[in-house]
Parts: sequence; structure tokens; C-alpha cells
Amino acid sequence: MSTLMEKLNTSPLVKHAYDFAEHAHKGQLRKSGDPYFTHCVGVAESVLKWNLDDQSIAAALLHDVVEDTSYTREDIASQFGKEVAFLVEGLTKLEEAESRGSHSEAESLRKMLLAMVEDPRVIIIKLADRYHNLRTLQHLSPERQKTFAKESIDIFAPIAYRLGMNELKGEIEDISFPYAFPEEYAWVMNTFKGLYAERANYLRRVTIHLSQEFSRYHIPITEIQTRAKHHYSLYKKLLKYNMNQDKIYDLVAVRIIVPSVGDCYAVLGMLHKLWKPLPGRIKDYIAMKKPNGYQSLHTTVFCLDNRITEFQIRTQDMHALAENGVAAHWLYKEQTRGSDAVSAAKARLGETERQWIERLRNWQNDFTSSEEFVDSLKHDVLSDQIYVFTPQGDIVELPDGSSPLDFAYKIHTEIGNTYAGAKADGHIVSLTYRLQNGQIVEVMTQKNKKPARDWIKTAHTSLARKKIKHELNVLEQKTRPTTTRLELKLTVENRVGMLRDATELLSAHHCNIEKVTSGATLDKFTTLSFLCTFKEKSVPSALVVKLKKIRGIKEVEYKVKN
Ligand code: MN
Repeated sequence: MSTLMEKLNTSPLVKHAYDFAEHAHKGQLRKSGDPYFTHCVGVAESVLKWNLDDQSIAAALLHDVVEDTSYTREDIASQFGKEVAFLVEGLTKLEEAESRGSHSEAESLRKMLLAMVEDPRVIIIKLADRYHNLRTLQHLSPERQKTFAKESIDIFAPIAYRLGMNELKGEIEDISFPYAFPEEYAWVMNTFKGLYAERANYLRRVTIHLSQEFSRYHIPITEIQTRAKHHYSLYKKLLKYNMNQDKIYDLVAVRIIVPSVGDCYAVLGMLHKLWKPLPGRIKDYIAMKKPNGYQSLHTTVFCLDNRITEFQIRTQDMHALAENGVAAHWLYKEQTRGSDAVSAAKARLGETERQWIERLRNWQNDFTSSEEFVDSLKHDVLSDQIYVFTPQGDIVELPDGSSPLDFAYKIHTEIGNTYAGAKADGHIVSLTYRLQNGQIVEVMTQKNKKPARDWIKTAHTSLARKKIKHELNVLEQKTRPTTTRLELKLTVENRVGMLRDATELLSAHHCNIEKVTSGATLDKFTTLSFLCTFKEKSVPSALVVKLKKIRGIKEVEYKVKN
């Protein structure tokens, strides 16, 4: 892997951007007192490390030029061409949305996602920007530190995760953790510091033992790594298990990297021969990859000294993908240089990331306000997810806490609307049941079944709630009695009892008379005007016929007034 300094020698574009940005930011300082340009270099170094193209590295160097110096977008375009200008423009827009303050967070996030749909490189450079700012967070005010760190955990870490950049996700969370939740962080560190060290020692013994076994059975091994669990993800796991430390088997996990998929299963078999596996903890993410593309075999065994230990087994390719996601694709797919740089960038994305971005695009069209959109996004998409299966074996991703009703609406609106019951792993479950990772969920529907109002409270996802509300509205529209307002004008003979006969007939047809007026008498005729309402959609024709039959009525005219 080349360094930025090496890159400057091989890429005239990057060199030009470097010199230009250094000059443009001359004299500007960071809060730390460092020259502002150090930030640009920091961002560019990450972008380079993640294997993005030269255009992206140039854009990373230039990302704050339009925002913070006297140079304009046009300057960037004329100096560096359309592609770099496009990337810088995307980043400038995000920056502008951000600087408008926290109340526009929703709008800023929405902009970010739109930019990601347009060209994922913009978001990856933005992640590099955020990552560098996080690493220099100590220079901000405590209040600003806290919001910045929380926002990073809530929004940026999940986006990194979604792009398959798991290593970055872990780092963003770990840097943010002490600023966002100082007390919790202190507790985790005090409780686990010794344990981390003790585990690491133990696993060194396990590694030596394993190496001997592998060579004895001639199983080729590329590498054995021991890996301490990220602090924030440890904290989240503890929350899930009510702070019960005994449930944490992967405080330090062992990762075995092998040449081929076949070797993965060979290693799994050998581990189970050496040590007894814990039931229910063997996961085959090779046969069944996670929606973000992650692949590995996981198992937990009673290891040396009968201690519970987790192993992850994967190939080199799977490992690269697990650590860097999108960036791994950039590395492994051939660089396509064409006029359409955006579609080339998208072509370099993995299938799963592409699908996710595509889904995001369709889905954001469903929301009218930014607030509604972002609420749903945080709650449904960026929160912790579980994976369940349809009876056909299709994987369905839902936020943790989802009910069978959420599952039904996720599959199809009609299935949700006609929901009559559900089974999880073959057992009937209630509407309020909380679905568990890995279950097979089957929804029973009933024709003509309609959503109930209390479903809104039962549903966990805002998507389901939105669909239920919509259907309830449609139903209400259909059943609401509509009234017709009518102006009725009768030309009648002037006789005693005429008004009584007419009103009696109207009442018999459930007509509510609001007002009656009589006109001037001409010859022996006069007019009676009624203003009335019917609880029906149209004027019953029988009424008109009967009116005409009343003795002395010459003419019937009416006008619908709605
Ligand atoms: Mn920046």
C-alpha cells in the first residue's frame, strides 16, 4: 500500500490538489493550533488507505476549499475537471447543511443520503472527514464534543457498517464512546481492563496449541489473530444481557484465516474434534451471508482449561470484506475508467451495498418531511437489526424489537393489512411477540381482514405504523356517511295543506329540512324553496317522482349544493 507521499510522485492530479489545497488554506489554523491543511492530509490518507481512486484522494484534499477559502466551485472545476469538482461540490453541500446547526440535523442527514445515492464516494470521503475530526475532538468544548460524538455513534457508525466498513464502524464508536457516555465508559474500562489483558494471555496459549494441531493435520493456515472486542460493542452487548459479564464469550476472540472455503470447514471440524462446541452458537455466515455481505464461520467451544472461547474462521477475501467493505471492492474489482465516473463508482460497489443504496432511494421517496424521514431512518434502518427468514428461506432484516406485524408489513403491505396471526419457528405467537434473530416467521392472512387501530401501538417500525395509518384512513373514507345538500324548488298551486304534504314526504325520505321560503304568488301559483340535507350520496329518485304526484305540484327543480 502506498503512502500519500508516494502517491504525490505518481499522480499529477493528487500532487496538484495537494499543492493547491496547501496554498488555499495557508495561514488557517485548527482549534488544536495545527495548520488547517493537516486536516486535509488526514482525510486524504484515510481515503487512500481505503483504496479509493485518485479523483477521490484529490477531492479529499480539496474538500474544505470552497467552504473555507476564497476559491469557488468554478475554480475547482477549471483546475481539476468535472469529476473532482462534482465530488467537492457534494462534500461542500453536506458541510453547509451541517453548519446550519443541530435543528437542521434531519435535513443534513437526508442530504447525505441523497449524495450517497448519487455517488457513494462522497459519503466515503465524508466518513474520512468525520473520522479525522473525531480523532482531534479533544480540542472542542465539552458540550460540542458530546453532540458530535453522539451523532457519530447514531449516524456515521451505522452508515459505515452499512457500507461494510466494520473496522471503521468500530473505531468511530470507540473514539466517540468516552465523550458520548463518560460514566458508562469509565465503568466498562474499570470492569474489563484486567480481564482484557488476562484473556489476551490465555489466547496466546490457545494460538500456540492450535498452530501445532493444524500442522499435525496438515490444514493450511494463513494467519491466526486474536482480537479484543471493541469497547463500545462490548458495552452494547452488556446492555443486552443486563450487564451480566458471564455472557460475554468474545471479549477477545480468535480469528483464523485460511486459503479456501473448504479449509474453513476443515478448521471448524478440527476445532469441534479438539473441544466441545456450545450448542446454538455455531453460525454459518458462509452459506448464509449477512445482509451487509459479511461472511465467516463462527463457533464457541469449551477451550483450553474448559474456558468458553469464540472462534471466527474465514478466507482472506472474506476478511478484507469484513474489515473494509466497499473499499475491499474497490481493491478487487478492476478499475473502469470511463466518461461516466459515477456509474463506474457504483459498479465497484458490492451487490449488497448497491441494493441497500437502491432501497434507500426508493424508500426516501415515501416520506414528505425530512423529520419523518430521518426518524424512520434512525429507528428502522440505522438501529440494531435482527435477521429472520420467510418459510421460503428468504432473509428479512428488521430492527431489533420488531413484532410479527412489522415482519408482515415488511414483506408486503397487503400481507400486513390482512394479518390474522403468525408462527415463529412453528409456534403460534401473539401480535406483540418480539421476534428473535434467526427465526423462521410465517404470517397467516385472512381475506377481508382489516387493520385495527391499536395495531399502531403494537408495530415497532415506523414503516408499519405509516402503512397501518394509511390503510385506516382509506377505510374511514370508504365507510364515512356522506351527506348531500340540496336546494329544492317546487312550483305549486296555492292550496291549504300543500306545505304540510311536501314536508311530510321529505321527512319520510330522511331528509333534514334546514330552511323553507315561499316566493311571491303569480296567478294561482307560488314557489316553495327548501334547503335540506340527505344522509346519502345522491338524491333518491323515488322522492322526485313522489313529489310530482302530490296534488297541485306543477314543477320540481333541484340543485345539489355540496
Ligand atoms: Mn473537513
